[in-house]
Amino acid sequence: MKGWILTGVLVVVAAIVGIFAYWYVNADNYRIAGVPVLNYHQVNDTYKTPLTMTTADFEKQIKYLHDNGYHAITQEQLLQYMNGTGTLPDKPVLVTFDDGYVDNYEQAYPIMKKYNMTGTIFLIINLMGKTGYLTWNQVHAMAKDGFEFGSHTVSHKPLTQLDEDHLRQELVESKARIEQQLGKPVTCIAYPEGKYNDLVELETKRAHYEAAFTVNVGKDFPGEDSYALDRIPIFEGFGSFWHFKFRLIFSDLTSHLWRVRVYLENTKWFKPLAQYVPLP
Ligand SMILES: [Zn+2]
Repeated sequence: MKGWILTGVLVVVAAIVGIFAYWYVNADNYRIAGVPVLNYHQVNDTYKTPLTMTTADFEKQIKYLHDNGYHAITQEQLLQYMNGTGTLPDKPVLVTFDDGYVDNYEQAYPIMKKYNMTGTIFLIINLMGKTGYLTWNQVHAMAKDGFEFGSHTVSHKPLTQLDEDHLRQELVESKARIEQQLGKPVTCIAYPEGKYNDLVELETKRAHYEAAFTVNVGKDFPGEDSYALDRIPIFEGFGSFWHFKFRLIFSDLTSHLWRVRVYLENTKWFKPLAQYVPLP
C-alpha cells in the first residue's frame, strides 16, 4: 500500500515539474505561451502604496526586458495579431500603465526611453492636469516618442455600477477627448478596477473601441475575447525582481489559479475558501 502512495506522489510531483518545465521552456514563445501585457500604475520613490513601484525596481525590469530581447509592441500590433491579420516580433511585450500618474512622465518615461521601450498609458479624463496626474502637454511629448494612449474612462467609476446612459457617456466622452488631443483614433480602453460584464463589453464595442483590458491575470491569445484581455499585474508593491520574472514567464499557467479564485468568490458556499487560492 505504502508503495502505491509513494508512486502516486511521485507521479503528481513529476507531472507538476513537467508542466512547469514545459512552460519555462516555451515561456518566450508567444504562440504557445501567449502575449504578455504588463500592467503598471505608479513608478516613484515617494509613495509606498500597493500601486507603487520604485524607480530602481522599474528600471531593473525594463532593463531585463531590453537585455533579453523583448520587443515593446503597440496596441495595433497586438490587435492585428489577435484578429489574425498581423504577426509580432519575437518576445513581444505590451507595457501598460493605468490612471495616468505624472510619474509615468517624470520617472517611467525617461527609463523606458533609455532602453528603447515604449508603452501605453490609460488616462482618466477628469484627473488630467490635476496634482499627481499627467498634463496634456506631457501626453503630447510622450506621444511624439511613440507612446500610445487609451481610455481609462472619464471618472474611473467601475463601469459595472453605472446605468446605461452614464456607462455610454464614460466610454464615448473619454475616447473623444483623447482623440481630440492626439488627432488619431483611440482603439483601447482599460476598465476601471478591471470591472466588466456583458453590458459593459457590448457598450464598449458600440463605442467603437477595438479592445479592452481587464486586470484578469494571464497572457493573450488570438481568438480570445478582445473586450476582456488579460494582463500581468506588476504593481502590488512587492517590487521583487524574482516575482516579476515569475509572472512574466508563468502568468498563463497561473491564470488558471486566478480563475479558480474568481469562481470561488462568486459561489455562495465556497466563497471563504477563495482567499486560500494562491496567486503567485
Ligand atoms: Zn485605474
